[in-house]
Amino acid sequence: MDLQLNEEQRAIREMVRRFAQEQIAPQARRIDEAEAFPAEIFQKMGELGLLGLPVPEEYGGVGADTVSYALAVEEIAAACGSTALSYAAHISLACAPLQWFGTPEQKQRYLTLLASGRGLGAFALTEPQSGSDAAGLRTTAVRDGDHWVLNGQKMWITNGAVADVVVVVAVTEPGKGAHGISMFLVEKGTPGFTPGKNEPKMGLKGSVTSQLFFQDCRIPAANLLGGLNQGFIQAMKTLDGGRISIAACALGLGRAAYEASRAYARERRAFGQPIADFQAIQFKLADMATQLDAARLLMYRAAWLKDAGKPYTVEAAQAKLFASEAAERACYEAIQIHGGYGYSREYPVERYYRDVRLMTIGEGTSEILRLVIARRLLRQA
Ligand SMILES: Cc1cc2nc3c(=O)[nH]c(=O)nc-3n(C[C@H](O)[C@H](O)[C@H](O)COP(=O)(O)OP(=O)(O)OC[C@H]3O[C@@H](n4cnc5c(N)ncnc54)[C@H](O)[C@@H]3O)c2cc1C
Repeated sequence: MDLQLNEEQRAIREMVRRFAQEQIAPQARRIDEAEAFPAEIFQKMGELGLLGLPVPEEYGGVGADTVSYALAVEEIAAACGSTALSYAAHISLACAPLQWFGTPEQKQRYLTLLASGRGLGAFALTEPQSGSDAAGLRTTAVRDGDHWVLNGQKMWITNGAVADVVVVVAVTEPGKGAHGISMFLVEKGTPGFTPGKNEPKMGLKGSVTSQLFFQDCRIPAANLLGGLNQGFIQAMKTLDGGRISIAACALGLGRAAYEASRAYARERRAFGQPIADFQAIQFKLADMATQLDAARLLMYRAAWLKDAGKPYTVEAAQAKLFASEAAERACYEAIQIHGGYGYSREYPVERYYRDVRLMTIGEGTSEILRLVIARRLLRQA
């Protein structure tokens, strides 16, 4: 078993780490406080090829593997959770379904736009009344000649108001549940498509999260993405990949919290010695480092399986479940190690704590992931 990263993976990690630490990290506090989408950072990420990192070169991407992409997300998240979440949604939730299910014409038009960094993507599955119960969505798409007409409302859509292309999941055959759902590509500015305001959130404030409204929104018939009534299975496949990137987001935030805590523990003195000399603090750091390491290995395994073309649904669920919960514990302990200063907005650990909270919720809550994992365990027994 070889747990070493290859040369290309290491080079990508180093490149993204340098960029993230030099160009993103110094902006993270401002992005959070201003609740402003970091458009200028995304422009630079596009110039570096990051917005098409795992997309094949023929569609304007870099053609890197999933391990490299996960490393990139971790590095960006360690600098700024908001930027990382929007980046992960663009790649895993918009570029990936286009790559997997798109026609050559759709890929040429939309995937090339997204991968080149000239456009941003979003994925709209969740609705006000349906999140975990994704098949309970109500947005409809009705065929009318050479068009589909969309009506309905989406909720909590990352990049929703700033995306150039949105992958929209809608009911095409009412009454058939998960077997009557399809995916569509909707361009920004299409009449009848109106994004709502940026939802005020606890954290990840620079990542735009929006409601989307569709009222008699007509899109060309050619904008059906993938098979008719195959949209639910396609959405689940999309989320499988997305969970690897949410594991990476969590890991990056947890790592940033751990590194800040280790540095602080060496510096801060109490009772005449650095707090790092107290065993109580050492044990916290040891647990944080160990759990984050375990999370990283689960993430690598899921990414490696995906790259190897093997099944990875359960492994991605395990990676996301463990990484998000380990990172949350790390961010909690980071505040504890910082004491009162940890509760201050002057130190970044309070931001990490707010940002990491989403990771056990988005793209499958911890409860739903445990269901996914348990279902397979029980099938095997
Ligand atoms: C910042 C942010 C960004 C997001 N980005 C996107 C996006 O880009 N695209 C998109 O489509 N969606 C997005 N979402 C939506 C997200 O995926 C959902 O919030 C999530 O899936 C949970 O759905 P819900 O909020 O409706 O909670 P619910 O499904 O109502 O769940 C509420 C609680 O009940 C539990 N629960 C539900 N069903 C079960 C069950 N069967 N067994 C046990 N417990 C259960 C859940 O685990 C949870 O604890 C985003 C959400 C947020 C907050």
